[in-house]
Amino acid sequence: TDAPLLVVNGIEVIYNHVILVLKGVSLQVPRQSIVALLGGNGAGKTTTLRAISNLLRGERGEVTKGTIALEGEQIANLTPSDLVRRGVVQVMEGRHCFAHLSIEENLLTGAYTRTNAGEIAANLEKVYTYFPRLKTRRHSQAAYTSGGEQQMCAIGRALMSNPRMVLLDEPSMGLAPQIVEEVFNIVKDLNAREQVTFLLAEQNTSMALRYADYGYIMESGRIVMDGPATDLANNEDVKEFYLGMG
Ligand code: ATP
Repeated sequence: TDAPLLVVNGIEVIYNHVILVLKGVSLQVPRQSIVALLGGNGAGKTTTLRAISNLLRGERGEVTKGTIALEGEQIANLTPSDLVRRGVVQVMEGRHCFAHLSIEENLLTGAYTRTNAGEIAANLEKVYTYFPRLKTRRHSQAAYTSGGEQQMCAIGRALMSNPRMVLLDEPSMGLAPQIVEEVFNIVKDLNAREQVTFLLAEQNTSMALRYADYGYIMESGRIVMDGPATDLANNEDVKEFYLGMG
């Protein structure tokens, strides 16, 4: 069907019972698309991803209004692991590999919702075909790998749950431009060949718009503009206010 995979409708998020951070955010993520959530520091991108993957509680945040639906089904009450089982997984900002584990051990932690050893092994091989660097480094302790390898490891780990949708928070953060490009190319490949849908939060507007199908721009907890990525990339306001960023 053509119904979007994910529909977020008018969500408000409050931290610590008082701080209103999302002020009615609505967005849609079509099946097999790459959607970019753009905007500066503190605009609310991470909070939006956390609201979707139900990771706000640990941050003392809660969704106080609005709805979040995956294929028409409300998901706001599912735990993060339930969501992983439904095919929605988040890659947190800052990569968060387990520093003392090897790359391969890190990847395997991503299969925690699965039990079939053969399927897990096949999935690991598939991750290595997309990330040959990770295969080379599979026995290295994550702490001793590069920032780019750790970002790849974080994405690879998410892929070990065999997701339909990956929420990717700030994949470019702290990485050299050519590494960012390498990561985005793999994202594009995964989208095209494995039909993985991506919702990615990025401050690097120009890079994200080159890879995304559609973009939403956030400011102070609201969506202020949205459109096809090529339209946004050519929009004068976007050029003036956002394309220098990241
Ligand atoms: P960044 O790129 O810096 O992560 P962002 O667009 O993802 O920016 P958020 O991290 O969602 O923005 O933050 C949005 C607002 O919510 C900011 O003003 C931030 O200070 C506030 N905020 C984030 N986390 C918390 C928290 N746990 N408690 C209180 N306020 C928070």
